[in-house]
Amino acid sequence: MTESSELLEKVIKNDYCIGCGACASVAGSPFRIKMDEYGNVVAEAGSDPEQSNARVMDICPFSDKAPSEDKISDRFFPSVNSNDKWIGKYLECYAGYVDEGLFREKGSSGGVGKWLGYTLLAEKKVDYLVQLHAKESGEPGDPLFSYKIISDKDEVISGSKSSYYPSTLVDVVRKLKDKEGSYAITGIPCFVKTLRLLSLRDEELAERIKYTIGVICGGMKSANHSKLIAWQLGVKPGDLVAIDFRRKYDDRPASNKIYQVWSSDNEKERYRDAARIFGTDWGSGYFKPNACDFCDDVVGETADISIGDAWLPGYVNDPKGTSVIVIRNTDLAELFKKHIEKGSIVMDSISAADVKKSQDGGFRHRREGLSHRLSKLEKSGKWHPPKRVKPGDFDIDRKRKRIYDLREKISKQSHLSAHKALQNDNLEIFFREMLPLKKKYRSAYYGKRYIRALRRIKRMILPAK
Ligand SMILES: Cc1cc2nc3c(=O)[nH]c(=O)nc-3n(C[C@H](O)[C@H](O)[C@H](O)COP(=O)(O)OP(=O)(O)OC[C@H]3O[C@@H](n4cnc5c(N)ncnc54)[C@H](O)[C@@H]3O)c2cc1C
Ligand code: SF4
Ligand code: SF4
Repeated sequence: MTESSELLEKVIKNDYCIGCGACASVAGSPFRIKMDEYGNVVAEAGSDPEQSNARVMDICPFSDKAPSEDKISDRFFPSVNSNDKWIGKYLECYAGYVDEGLFREKGSSGGVGKWLGYTLLAEKKVDYLVQLHAKESGEPGDPLFSYKIISDKDEVISGSKSSYYPSTLVDVVRKLKDKEGSYAITGIPCFVKTLRLLSLRDEELAERIKYTIGVICGGMKSANHSKLIAWQLGVKPGDLVAIDFRRKYDDRPASNKIYQVWSSDNEKERYRDAARIFGTDWGSGYFKPNACDFCDDVVGETADISIGDAWLPGYVNDPKGTSVIVIRNTDLAELFKKHIEKGSIVMDSISAADVKKSQDGGFRHRREGLSHRLSKLEKSGKWHPPKRVKPGDFDIDRKRKRIYDLREKISKQSHLSAHKALQNDNLEIFFREMLPLKKKYRSAYYGKRYIRALRRIKRMILPAK
């Protein structure tokens, strides 16, 4: 069996592909990257994998031939000694925000992501920044976000905020190979892992990728997730041209997600609180690719710096947003210290335990929940990617197991039902098919109290028979 056939059989056919594009970027690869009918970005074989001698097994983040995040970070941060079982290696941890320019206003949380990209270009620490940008074509149908390589520091601010939308690195990797220079790249943890795996094999690439900027990740969403949000806000899926997942409000906590969408049809301003949009409850697992349920790196342990939301008491209620930051690279640690002194960024030193606390829900699902999911796969004898978490690592009660099981069902069913709703041009199909699972999830999560409260409300609303 060739490596390509092995990758196809193990990772792609078992639905563990996250579409990073590493396998499609190497010479002689039979793979190409596409967006499937469910709006997930995945690899597919365009030619016979048995006829290919491409080496793809050690560069896929979900392959059983790739080193783990622990091994990768040992290779890239050999002199970083502080190591935490949740957030990986670290030099400094901060919670804070940018206090210059429009970075905080135009950022998802404290604006640190784009500020860092800007500063690296402004101080000529890199020649190029690779970050996500919203599409510029204005044409409905094109992907709403894709990677762009920029060298003009003033262009950084127009980069995306948090993009809960699938993308791929395949073109980026090809361009990096073609164009000499030093690069900083933003990426979700699995994409940073991909860049590290490619770098371990390719010295030229390793030299060019000077800084990896990881965004802490609670799971990806499909492109159909955006369509279903837009539909509920009055924009037909075919007319959707842009989405902002992190609109801010002066008088609401930063954790209160507000989604805004734009239509090709008219200029009307359309936005709504996520709590009032069906299918956006993050924890339930709607529209999540299967791969994300088999990923144990929440923070981005192989990145030079990881940036997320400071969902912590003392920060979470600030509507302007606050970032949580983990630094593993000594240059970046110095850069932060310099700018804290200058006052361009305002940072509080926090502990690794605080960073972990800011992501408690994500860790529960991706460590405890993952160990449960792995146990089920082991029992059924099915292949799964090797993980640092092992089956049976956690003592999980029945209630939690049911919650994790229902999340898996919701993820799978949401892809199917959204596809069916889109095919039939009928949003009601999505609501109708998802409602029973939503009810089961709520009752598993909130218990009998929830059911009793629901019955009480029903009795109040519905006339007595
Ligand atoms: C899918 C996803 C899930 C997330 N889940 C969590 C979570 O569970 N907990 C948490 O604390 N934080 C999470 N984040 C990160 C968080 O939403 C913010 O992106 C982060 O706090 C940075 O905000 P900022 O204001 O500091 O940066 P900003 O100034 O907004 O800059 C963000 C930078 O990240 C880049 N970027 C955004 N999305 C992507 C992407 N998908 N791929 C590559 N680059 C990207 C942008 O292009 C920009 O350069 C998630 C982000 C994504 C994309
Ligand atoms: S995760 Fe990346 S490397 Fe692995 S199969 Fe998918 S696209 Fe290829
Ligand atoms: S949860 Fe893991 S696999 Fe999914 S997008 Fe985030 S980093 Fe990638």
